[in-house]
Amino acid sequence: MFLKSLTLRGFKSFARKTHIVFEPGLSVIIGPNGSGKSNLVDAVLWVLGEQNPRFLRGKSMVDVIFSGTEFEKPMPYAEVTLVFDNSDRFLPVDASEVSIKRRLMREGDNTYFINEKPCRLLDVHSLILKARLGEELPGIIPQNRLDDLINPSSTDLRAIIEEASGIALYKKRKENAIKKLVSVDEKIDKLSMVKREVDRELKPLKKQVEKMKAAIEMKRSLDEIWIKLKVNELVSLEERWNSLKNEESLTESTLSE
Ligand code: ATP
Repeated sequence: MFLKSLTLRGFKSFARKTHIVFEPGLSVIIGPNGSGKSNLVDAVLWVLGEQNPRFLRGKSMVDVIFSGTEFEKPMPYAEVTLVFDNSDRFLPVDASEVSIKRRLMREGDNTYFINEKPCRLLDVHSLILKARLGEELPGIIPQNRLDDLINPSSTDLRAIIEEASGIALYKKRKENAIKKLVSVDEKIDKLSMVKREVDRELKPLKKQVEKMKAAIEMKRSLDEIWIKLKVNELVSLEERWNSLKNEESLTESTLSE
């Protein structure tokens, strides 16, 4: 895996598209003061996800967008693309080249791309941490961090060593896992609240259901009783009818005698 090219458009002093191919053997970029050498380093840090404008020698993130000169209009956006050769599949992407792109619009819209597909900053971070090219990468030391290496406090040195040894990747994953756990805890709390609320509303509903069941049972018994009553009525009417009929036939036979 090696860095193949860097393309800038609208980034700091690079208003127009500038494409730099890192030929094998390239080891130094020289130029007069203020010609943009450090802007190239800033571009690499920026495309890899730097979030702190101070580390890019600016006050706010939009400071990285070309602000215009006497001869050229300001750019509406800044865009930087880094291309790595990945023929040894060192980066966990199944492609022989991996490009990482970041675009920032003046309105603040910020997008990352891996091989031209929009992605999250988290994806860029996991990719570069895997390649040990973390945000505070020992391979890129911005001007304002040189002191940390020459005169490091124990914490600075620890951070640099952790980054170089690849522990940073696991620390980042741990941080993300803890964040996820916290959000799961919050969701569980919310769900418990909703459950308590539903339970509270369920209580009177349960009582109503019990009352309804009792009412249905009562209605069923009433219907049964009503049917029995009607059957009894029918039987006694039939009996009365028969006895009247008997009486009538008796009277008729007496008369005929
Ligand atoms: P030095 O050797 O002094 O560190 P350098 O070659 O590293 O200089 P840089 O610091 O990379 O140069 O570039 C500084 C130049 O970039 C300045 O001329 C500055 O005006 C220009 N610059 C920085 N940000 C922007 C921007 N947003 N728009 C236009 N030009 C910018």
